[in-house]
Amino acid sequence: MNNMKHNYSGGCHCGDVKFTIRGKPVWKVNCYCNWCQTTSGGPFRSFVLFNEENIKFIGQEPKSYEDKNTTHGRPMINQFCSNCGTLIGIKVPSIRERHIAIGALDQRKQIEIDCNIWATEALNFIAFPDNADVYKTGYWNGTGEKI
Ligand SMILES: [Zn+2]
Ligand SMILES: [Zn+2]
Repeated sequence: MNNMKHNYSGGCHCGDVKFTIRGKPVWKVNCYCNWCQTTSGGPFRSFVLFNEENIKFIGQEPKSYEDKNTTHGRPMINQFCSNCGTLIGIKVPSIRERHIAIGALDQRKQIEIDCNIWATEALNFIAFPDNADVYKTGYWNGTGEKI
């Protein structure tokens, strides 16, 4: 079954970690929280969420760093290539779907992110587009307070 159909593919910069994904994204979100800033080195992280069972790793699985003492009280597992450091995504133990980092997806240019969370922690130079949902905090779409 080498020719199993998939909709998305991706991996890390050096090629050690590779994956294929079947199905559609469950959610597409930018997160501006402090944790995403300090774990990425950037002002925010962009995630595309997929059902865990639709993601298949080929070759090496990403390395996991579990942080149990996050400021928002939710344990987070950062996942990255142990060789080149590319962020592959995160696992949030309380959420079934896996967050895939948009930069790890080959099809990233076709993905529109339409939701923004943790705007209260966004850096000063961040501007949100008029047509995007912006939430003060997290986590699930539609459950928080909008700005
Ligand atoms: Zn790598
Ligand atoms: Zn975040």
